[in-house]
Amino acid sequence: MKQAAKTEREFGGTLGAVGIPVSLPLTVLLLIGVSRSPSASLFQWPPALPSADQLWHPMAPLLLLGWIGLHAALYSLPLGKMSEGLELKNKTRLKYPINGFHAMCISVGLVLLLLKLGAPLGRLFELLLPLAVCTIVLSFLLSIFLYAHSFSVSSDALAPGGNTGNHLYDFFIGRELNPRIQNFDLKYFCELRPGLIGWAVINLGLLMKEVELRGSPSLAMILVNGFQLLYVGDALWNEEAVLSTMDIVHDGFGFMLVFGDLVWVPFTYSLQASFLVVHPQALSVFGAAVIVALNGIGYYIFRSSNSQKNQFRRDPNHPNVSKLKTIPTATGKKLLVSGWWGFVRHPNYLGDLLMALAWSLPCGFSHLLPYFYVTYFTVLLIHREARDERQCKLKYGASWDSYCKQVPYRIFPYIY
Ligand code: NDP
Repeated sequence: MKQAAKTEREFGGTLGAVGIPVSLPLTVLLLIGVSRSPSASLFQWPPALPSADQLWHPMAPLLLLGWIGLHAALYSLPLGKMSEGLELKNKTRLKYPINGFHAMCISVGLVLLLLKLGAPLGRLFELLLPLAVCTIVLSFLLSIFLYAHSFSVSSDALAPGGNTGNHLYDFFIGRELNPRIQNFDLKYFCELRPGLIGWAVINLGLLMKEVELRGSPSLAMILVNGFQLLYVGDALWNEEAVLSTMDIVHDGFGFMLVFGDLVWVPFTYSLQASFLVVHPQALSVFGAAVIVALNGIGYYIFRSSNSQKNQFRRDPNHPNVSKLKTIPTATGKKLLVSGWWGFVRHPNYLGDLLMALAWSLPCGFSHLLPYFYVTYFTVLLIHREARDERQCKLKYGASWDSYCKQVPYRIFPYIY
């Protein structure tokens, strides 16, 4: 316990662990409410709070449980290959099914079939707040279960930063690294499936609401849906890469990740589509072409930099990466200092942020709300970069300092 108490606390320690689980669910409900209010103003006072009858609908828990059940079933189907995660403290590796892209295709196919059979997908617009409330409740229940479960495993199975002995903080940050029920990995399941694919389906429902209201989807709505579907599809196509991310390798599975995966992603990342239902925007073909180009550049940087590093970590001798300059580290691993990772220290974040901007631009410049995502995401990635930097400094010591000297900018060349 003494050793655990020394663990560095993140997200504001106990204060964050109490404040964030209270404030973030309220923020989600407020943002959805604001996105559909006539003024869509973030600064309106009193704020556009949803009324109590907008927060509940008996269909919501059924839809939510049906959706999670469908994805749990798809996860368990023997589709796609099995892949091994990185080596754990006890020198073993866990196995993960790489079938998220199959799950996306099947579930989106089912939704389209239901739509063809006349299912009123546009009703998702009215059900969004009740669905968000039910998912918030589910995320608290799951986090409580995960915290209790973490006491049934050995200390080897705990996350490095999640065993401080402070109940509130450990509940929030995640105590157990890879909680599983038999072979079903709860963190890996939640990371890219029900929430991420749910986001694409919510967007489609909002597009159908627009069709109900105005006869056809707007160009702005088509761009937002298309860009975000590409992002979701890309994440699932490259699902194996998640096995080496900070979330899977380092972070415990607690309220922070549960809420982020299941609530924050689907319900706040769909705000632009939600906004467009009530605030239609005229977008010229030229404007659309510029935005498509920006999204394309962002996607190119994001995908090629992520692939370059993944390729290098899997096989540094692969012809695509073997000519890149590297520096050795005491761990035996090398760091790239040319190619994308010699341009800035987080080129993948730069690409992600350019795409985030492209998702907001179809909503015009009259309101701040559609820019919530790119603003929040900039803060998140700057914070994430600092966390990663701390961990890399611990891992690589002087080699990391030398990398920082050779590649001085973190995300934005010549700026930051
Ligand atoms: P990264 O893919 O950026 O990985 C960081 C790790 O890469 C480091 O810990 C280090 O690990 C390795 N690394 C760093 N520098 C080098 C180098 N020069 N050479 C070789 N390896 C290096 O981690 P994230 O999980 O933060 O991001 C993955 C993607 O997910 C990003 O594109 C990000 O934008 C996106 N993302 C999206 C979110 C969303 O909500 N939309 C949220 C969070 C992330 P090691 O050396 O141990 O391999």
